[in-house]
Amino acid sequence: MKNKKEAVVVFSGGQDSTTCLLWAMKEYDKVYAVSFDYGQRHILELECAKDICAHYGIEHVVMDMSLINQLAPNSLTRADIVVDEDAPSVGTPNSCVDGRNMVFLTFVAIYAKQKGITDIITGVSQSDFSGYPDCRDVFIKSLNTTLNLAMDYDFCLITPLMWIDKEETWEMADKLGGFDVVRNMTLTCYNGIMGDGCGNCPSCKLRKKGLESYLKRRGI
Ligand code: ZN
Repeated sequence: MKNKKEAVVVFSGGQDSTTCLLWAMKEYDKVYAVSFDYGQRHILELECAKDICAHYGIEHVVMDMSLINQLAPNSLTRADIVVDEDAPSVGTPNSCVDGRNMVFLTFVAIYAKQKGITDIITGVSQSDFSGYPDCRDVFIKSLNTTLNLAMDYDFCLITPLMWIDKEETWEMADKLGGFDVVRNMTLTCYNGIMGDGCGNCPSCKLRKKGLESYLKRRGI
């Protein structure tokens, strides 16, 4: 018997949100996944999300958020902008979409309230903080308060990965029985290559480093 009923997972089809989906499936009786179409360069990301949800029999919703791309063109949505290799010393990386998490979580909250659900799960992490201000715990807590006030509702934004790094995220997926799904069916690579990816973009480097440390620790 699980202790909670229903939750909505913000689901990109990447490593972090898939690990959150696994976590939610263990904690809740029913889980909904919400993905966003915001003109990602690699629309395959949405295909991965769809396939993972089908694999687990999870109800999946894709929301159209193309407006955010018109307002804030960035390297994740525009082929003519090269992704920053490393985080710049000043400001945010050009893969950062201003306000993305705030906008996405707000829409997920509206969706959740319509369904009578309070618990919203997102895979943001402050540990692997890549310079994205809206991945920080202080932002999530602030938005939680704001959403509750805005909709007069007791939302609970839950962040299972907030204080763990990529190595521990691999460990969590493994313990939840989803190591192979995360390794093979997710897409985190900025160059749009599934699974282990291109190996060279900032996202692949982070993922690979965590995976290698975890496998070494697990003794494989
Ligand atoms: Zn890559």
